[in-house]
Amino acid sequence: MRRGMPLPDGNHGEHLALRRASSSTERLGCIEVVCGSMFSGKTEELLRRVKRARLARHRVVLFKPRIDNRYDDVKVVSHEGIKAEATAIASAAEIFSFVNLESAPEVVGIDEAQFFDDAVVDAAETLANAGVRVICAGLDQDYRGKPFGPMPALMSVAEYVTKLQAVCSRCGAAACRSQRLVGMEGQLFVGGAADYEPRCRRCFVAGVVDVAGAPPSRA
Ligand SMILES: [Zn+2]
Repeated sequence: MRRGMPLPDGNHGEHLALRRASSSTERLGCIEVVCGSMFSGKTEELLRRVKRARLARHRVVLFKPRIDNRYDDVKVVSHEGIKAEATAIASAAEIFSFVNLESAPEVVGIDEAQFFDDAVVDAAETLANAGVRVICAGLDQDYRGKPFGPMPALMSVAEYVTKLQAVCSRCGAAACRSQRLVGMEGQLFVGGAADYEPRCRRCFVAGVVDVAGAPPSRA
């Protein structure tokens, strides 16, 4: 680190310049990514940041993909049951049907960002360039342990990246993977607590296991 340079933020990847809103042209936008395995607390972290922004009287608009209707069509709900109103959209481009860049809100949150296509990266950049603080939460890896959809690209253009870990259901170590427990193929299978469990690198088995946890057939 060069002398005189500011130290890295001690804020764990969160943009905390919660000054009262100025006009969007004066605001410096940014992209924050909150990612990790299932049960790592991504949605809780998104909603915590949203709550703090609202305490600072920032306007917040939350979006989620329409594909994800696990709990509620119009709310972002964490596994812990914390919730906030959200708009379900079929594509990232739809964000601009709800957000006018001329009078943009201070904060735009996007939950389950992994389910959008790469257009969500351009949308996040457009919003951030217009002075919006964009907070994207999503799975960084799919059930095979592979990068999930637009998340790698979002992480690369983001100013702040927070990687959260769950607790491995087998050994108690920090878990970075989502083990799928049912025999469904495809990234877009949206499951809940009964369909996945968090596992560490060592306990994770790439592929699908049956509900009883029998040895999977390695692909
Ligand atoms: Zn483990």
